[in-house]
Amino acid sequence: MTRFMTLCSSSGGNSVYVGTSSYGVLIDAGNSCKQLKLALKNADIDPSSVKAIFVTHEHSDHVKGLRVLASSLKVPVYATGGTLSGLNGLGILDGSFSYQKLLPGGVDVGDIHISGFRTSHDAKESCGYRIDLPGASVGIATDTGKITDEIINALSGCGLVLLESNYDYDMLMTGIYPPQLKARIRSDIGHLSNDDCAETVCSLLDLNVRRFVLGHLSRENNRPEIAFSSANGALRRMGARQDRDYSLSVAPVGPMDGYMVF
Ligand SMILES: [Zn+2]
Ligand SMILES: [Zn+2]
Repeated sequence: MTRFMTLCSSSGGNSVYVGTSSYGVLIDAGNSCKQLKLALKNADIDPSSVKAIFVTHEHSDHVKGLRVLASSLKVPVYATGGTLSGLNGLGILDGSFSYQKLLPGGVDVGDIHISGFRTSHDAKESCGYRIDLPGASVGIATDTGKITDEIINALSGCGLVLLESNYDYDMLMTGIYPPQLKARIRSDIGHLSNDDCAETVCSLLDLNVRRFVLGHLSRENNRPEIAFSSANGALRRMGARQDRDYSLSVAPVGPMDGYMVF
């Protein structure tokens, strides 16, 4: 059995638990150690069952609680070389935990295999992750300004994909952000729009992905119901139907109401 849970997911903080029934890993730690541990405990996941933390990139909404959490759990942190240098520059590696550069072939944590794939984002060396567990695979792809073949290949066949659906185009363009920030978000090294996300879930459905969780929604430029209907509408236009052909949900800003099992 695979367990999946977002502990937090938005432009303000991101962390995901993926594991078996006995242990697992975290992808990112973008909330306080206290809040992340509380979210795990409330879902009946013992924080000591977390065996490693994998980091997508050094932006604060992904690493806010990393130093304290990794020190407290005494688990290794894995990231690309560029992300490790970014974390080092922020003083985040200065804790009582070990850290290692992610190898191209990935890393084994017990019988879970975790491999990275490049994302297109304005960080030093951002990546997403594919987590291969004994019964299923999970893909995590957030913080990318565009979807590449490498990303699609990595997510192909995953039992569940967490995909960024960051902003609604009209809300962004008519919103309060300054023009430079709007341009950064829309760029190829920014974030995925609801429309980009909708197109991607359709591609992934054709590649046998059946469970979609939309995440990393902007708190300023998106709403859960808009992100949902954008992806759901695109899937329906393909002739697919929710529950029959796929499941689709939007990750809450705070902890999911318990973990998903599949
Ligand atoms: Zn970022
Ligand atoms: Zn982010």
